[in-house]
Amino acid sequence: MNTVAIGGQTVPAIGMGSWHLGQGRHSDSEEEAALRMGITQGLKVIDTAEMYGGGRSEQLIGRAIAGQRDKVYLVSKIYPWHATDNAAIGQACADSLQRLKTDHLDLYLLHWRADANLQTVVSGFEQLRGAGKIRAWGVSNFDVDDMQDLFAIDNGNHCATNQVLYNLGNRNIEFALQPWCLQHNIPIMAYSPLGSGNPLLRQAALAQVASKHQTAPAAIALAWVIRNGHTLAIPESGEPAHVQENSRVLSLTLDADDLAALDRAFAPPTDRQPLSML
Ligand code: NAP
Repeated sequence: MNTVAIGGQTVPAIGMGSWHLGQGRHSDSEEEAALRMGITQGLKVIDTAEMYGGGRSEQLIGRAIAGQRDKVYLVSKIYPWHATDNAAIGQACADSLQRLKTDHLDLYLLHWRADANLQTVVSGFEQLRGAGKIRAWGVSNFDVDDMQDLFAIDNGNHCATNQVLYNLGNRNIEFALQPWCLQHNIPIMAYSPLGSGNPLLRQAALAQVASKHQTAPAAIALAWVIRNGHTLAIPESGEPAHVQENSRVLSLTLDADDLAALDRAFAPPTDRQPLSML
């Protein structure tokens, strides 16, 4: 199975996102069924945030994982403007825990940097970790200079991951951020690994590789994202059939010919670009 080590745990390299869940794109019951299908198929990591649907995504996940919290590696994120001191960080975490109906998060991320004081953020996260409210912490949307600032402060190197935009249509991180994270043993959590669905999945090169492996273009896009063993992908789907398709990537590996074909269609970066963010 394709796995990634993150925050002291080894987890399957495909998880599930939830940015739009609980907000009417599909029925709540279908989205809950999709998450439960994913858990059954071994998609252990579920990514959410206090931001998503103003808490409705966390609430829907709380219903979907009821009775099977032990089968899930739960990730949530704090707004930078809630990360102002230990009390505010503790309150934001407590609110997420209440919506998710659990007593701890496996991973808690600063959603983006903005003007957050990194020493304050790390201190608040470390306090939550000591209290058993979170098992590990990390960041999201941090570029190389942000990671360097983080690693320059006390306990900054306890960071377990950096969650950033990465898919075949946007390979910017490969020039500088991905090598930096590899060198510092920070696994990357790739968000929007399907390019948010369209038009990436309609590209001919994906269809060709998919046909060779008798699978769907989405599966190839995901297998490509996780190919180096240090990257976890968190595709979102509210459709059980799509989740089942995505879960098959846990046992899918692309060969050198596939990777070369994808490189020809989706060229790697040749210079450094600022980190893209959705
Ligand atoms: P994505 O996962 O790249 O794409 C989601 C889209 O792909 C949905 O329209 C979904 O539709 C479709 N899809 C999923 N599986 C499919 C399949 N097998 N075949 C065809 N279509 C499929 O985009 P995303 O939602 O932007 O990103 C994923 C997650 O990353 C988010 O949910 C969130 O948890 C996280 N994220 C984090 C940040 C951050 O700042 N940290 C930013 C953006 C996203 P169906 O529902 O119909 O399957």
